[in-house]
Amino acid sequence: MFENLKKFQADGCEGCSSTDCGSCDQAPQEPVNDQNCTHDCGSCPSAGGCGSFDPKSLLEKQNEFSDVKKVIAVVSGKGGVGKSLVTSLMTISMQRRGAVCGIMDADVTGPSIPKVFGIDAMAEGSDAGIFPLLTNTGIKTISVNNLLENASDPVLWRGPIIAGLVKQFWTDVLWGETDYLFVDMPPGTGDVALTVFQSLPIDGIIVVTSPQDLVGMIVEKAVKMAEMMDVPVLGLVENMAYLKCPHCGEEIPVFGESKTAEIAAAHGLEVLGRIPIDPKLAAACDRGLIEAFEGDWLEKAVEKVESL
Ligand code: ADP
Repeated sequence: MFENLKKFQADGCEGCSSTDCGSCDQAPQEPVNDQNCTHDCGSCPSAGGCGSFDPKSLLEKQNEFSDVKKVIAVVSGKGGVGKSLVTSLMTISMQRRGAVCGIMDADVTGPSIPKVFGIDAMAEGSDAGIFPLLTNTGIKTISVNNLLENASDPVLWRGPIIAGLVKQFWTDVLWGETDYLFVDMPPGTGDVALTVFQSLPIDGIIVVTSPQDLVGMIVEKAVKMAEMMDVPVLGLVENMAYLKCPHCGEEIPVFGESKTAEIAAAHGLEVLGRIPIDPKLAAACDRGLIEAFEGDWLEKAVEKVESL
């Protein structure tokens, strides 16, 4: 069974005279096959590369003080399209309807949730875990910026460290009773995004696009990733869809005519909302006052989440 391990010993390793390759983490692993599969994909070097891989097998458990009922991931193909804005508006809208809500800022290298909600305190912890920080209206939040001494310090960590931190946001933060946890995902489909999809029990994905985006490709990637992870895409939200003329109310398509509806239909998805470019929104984000927003652009998206 350990044939390749024996070969490893026979070849020897530079700088090592030990023969205890069995406990060496540098030793090559015995390839996993039908005979030796333990069905514990979490510790398997071949996870994801075999027919019996179960994406749900990598799920991390919540701590005993957390009872999060639904987890919604908000994704985008690239940064700057308004993913954090949509995450915030969705959470505020659900909270206004009486649900207990939280936001996990998983966009670790570009965290904007604390700024948008005007939170600059450091998160505190106890033996039981980390306490989320509350916004003015009581939304529970956690972000790397509330763990750093200086919020303007860049996060210069490699993918696995960031992914580990995001996992801890799920396992170690004391979310308590929470109806909806919205996850502001890192843009794209990289390392961290994959970890979130594998580790958290995501109930649905909202894809945020903007008209100048390569919407087709982004939607396709999101849909494929969701299929692989066995998670439903709830629909698309188009941000910066138009600018409303302050004088006559005409909707001006600043970035050209949108293709979002067409592409959504081609994938059997719904457009759950269209948010205009609105200087008031930008100002509210800048001042940490997003909870004062007015607008009903996300009614359909809210109803979709409520129907889960
Ligand atoms: P992402 O999370 O995709 O990187 P953000 O939500 O942080 O993007 O938005 C990027 C910037 O654009 C922020 O400063 C935000 O205030 C601004 N912004 C996003 N959407 C709008 C909008 N519809 N109207 C005005 N400003 C917006």
